[in-house]
Amino acid sequence: MQQPSSKHADVIIVGFRCAGASLAYSLHNAGLKVIVVESAALYTDHPLSTHVILPLGMQKLDEMGLGDRIRDLAPRQTRLSNRLDDEEIQLDLSKGELDCRAPRRSVLDPALQEAVVEQGVDVREKTKVTGLLRQDERVVGVRVKNANESYELRADIIVGADGRHSTVAKLVDAQAYIEADNYFGTVWSYFSGTCFPQDDPKYNWDTCFHFHGEKVQLLVKTDSDLMLLGVGAKKDSVSHWVKDSAAGFLEQLGQGVLSGPLVANSKMVRKPVGITAMTFFMKKAVGPGWALVGDAGLTADPTPGDGITNALRDVVALSSAIVEGSEQAMLYYWRKRDVDSIALFHAAEYMGSGSFNNAFNRMTYRYVEKSPAIKQRMIEAVMTRTRPYADILPMWAAPYWLLRELIKGNFAPLTAMGDIFSLGGKIMHDERVLKKALRDLERGSLSADIPQLSSKEK
Ligand SMILES: Cc1cc2nc3c(=O)[nH]c(=O)nc-3n(C[C@H](O)[C@H](O)[C@H](O)COP(=O)(O)OP(=O)(O)OC[C@H]3O[C@@H](n4cnc5c(N)ncnc54)[C@H](O)[C@@H]3O)c2cc1C
Repeated sequence: MQQPSSKHADVIIVGFRCAGASLAYSLHNAGLKVIVVESAALYTDHPLSTHVILPLGMQKLDEMGLGDRIRDLAPRQTRLSNRLDDEEIQLDLSKGELDCRAPRRSVLDPALQEAVVEQGVDVREKTKVTGLLRQDERVVGVRVKNANESYELRADIIVGADGRHSTVAKLVDAQAYIEADNYFGTVWSYFSGTCFPQDDPKYNWDTCFHFHGEKVQLLVKTDSDLMLLGVGAKKDSVSHWVKDSAAGFLEQLGQGVLSGPLVANSKMVRKPVGITAMTFFMKKAVGPGWALVGDAGLTADPTPGDGITNALRDVVALSSAIVEGSEQAMLYYWRKRDVDSIALFHAAEYMGSGSFNNAFNRMTYRYVEKSPAIKQRMIEAVMTRTRPYADILPMWAAPYWLLRELIKGNFAPLTAMGDIFSLGGKIMHDERVLKKALRDLERGSLSADIPQLSSKEK
């Protein structure tokens, strides 16, 4: 590792995990001088995150030259199962670019960090950013503190890749224009020796999101032959499961249709961890001398498991913008992030709202599973080339399926239509606003105005 003596860099990156480490790697390879500041020790586990990396995330890692390192950590997830009670959509991710992986954060984060350290990048662990240096309106550096000293570092641009409680975002007063609180709390752990029931089609997957009643279970084959098993439920109930022991959590898993048989024949190898309170938001991502990337600027409900993927997508875009160096390029990074994220943001919030497992969605799952063409569109949505809902279902699909159900005397799907219309309305409104901001920028306006979105729901 380079001796941390320098006080100047082209870019200072605060935070050294999925977003910060991959950005440091990318910018260093582009020829920029980078200093990384990370408050935790290097090569440590992430305190609170599961770790499905969707195909788009792997594609972005490949673009940065990091894909093979991550492939070495964990086997490919070839079958992704999404279940609402007994209705299942199974996505075949075994082909070509649809590479999905799920290495634990205890191996993923260190692998990314190691790649950067090997390049000789100046990385300062156990060092915390405590303040910003400013010249007029512009941020020109950071004040940092470690066990021995406090000192200042200067750079052309300071990037906050310091997670959802970002110090940089607070110090620059980055405004949030959507905010919402979580409904689900989540607890998870790792299990060894898991035996899958032989020839049971219910277990024909590598990763499974199973909504069951008002709860959700996450079942993922991860690295080292371990199994990640997690449960999400209304946040007030979750805190009791891990209060005194793991008994409540194991009981929940034991009751799961899919997790029950698995947990009965496995050994839990780590104390369960959980999260009950979270705020989701989208914040202004750039300003004079600063930028935010990853959770620091955009934290969405983790239920669909796309935070890492979104962070990697935005790292590639921010890296190009920093290399280009113009104000327009930086604004473009922000506006494009918003357009790319807004539908997913609202859909993730809906998935984590406790009402996702409803009769309309179960009906949709049932019909989609029978339609290879629509499943293909769903894969496109997993790649985030298309938007959830709006682009997955052809215009005719939902009305036609509803009609068929009504003729059969099944009126239940109608009861959830209010939620669906409300979700569609929010996505359409916010996309219109954000696309206009992007178009205005492309026409030459350098406005950094905060977009007025449909909701600030906290
Ligand atoms: C319960 C849960 C489950 C999830 N599951 C998934 C999943 O399956 N798939 C997925 O893609 N995403 C998932 N996510 C989301 C994912 O964890 C995040 O999107 C991702 O970790 C964001 O990475 P990041 O690098 O932006 O931030 P972080 O991983 O939070 O890293 C920020 C780093 O900044 C450092 N830092 C903070 N403040 C300072 C400071 N002042 N000075 C110096 N350093 C500082 C921290 O120590 C930390 O190392 C989940 C999240 C949660 C909460």
